Amino acid sequence: MNSFEIRNAEKKGRGVFSLVHWDTNQVILKFNGKLITKQSMLEMTAEQSALLLQIDSEIYLDLSGDMSLFINHSCNPNTTIKIIAKNAFLISTRAIKPNEELSYDYSVSCTESPEEWKMDCRCGEWNCRKVISGFASLDQKVRELYLKSNIAPNYVKKNLEVK
Ligand SMILES: [Zn+2]
Repeated sequence: MNSFEIRNAEKKGRGVFSLVHWDTNQVILKFNGKLITKQSMLEMTAEQSALLLQIDSEIYLDLSGDMSLFINHSCNPNTTIKIIAKNAFLISTRAIKPNEELSYDYSVSCTESPEEWKMDCRCGEWNCRKVISGFASLDQKVRELYLKSNIAPNYVKKNLEVK
């Protein structure tokens, strides 16, 4: 049985919906894609680079053709991304019911500045940031929460120290 389904997510376009129940802290899926260097990313068109997920300071995963590509951002997400040795996993951060849309905070794994990458957010959550960008662009409070709960990958932490 499939655990997910791509469905219409209204204003957000398409989204990935869970068909099953998840407890907190479960591995929901692995992001699949080809590894791309930052150098190759810079040579891509905006459409192509929109399909990338950052997984290290200068390494990206090309999610084209993978269902994970359709997982939307939320400012109040029910999952997060966890990066272990250049593998990216989606982990539940709270219990998820069948038919709930899966979402994670795109800023968690991203070190780019608003000049390099930003996106309008239509998640509609009470705490919506409206525009999302890299980890450093987060409010101090949100940043501290992600750092404290060990959600931020090491390269993101290192990038903060450099700044
Ligand atoms: Zn939002």
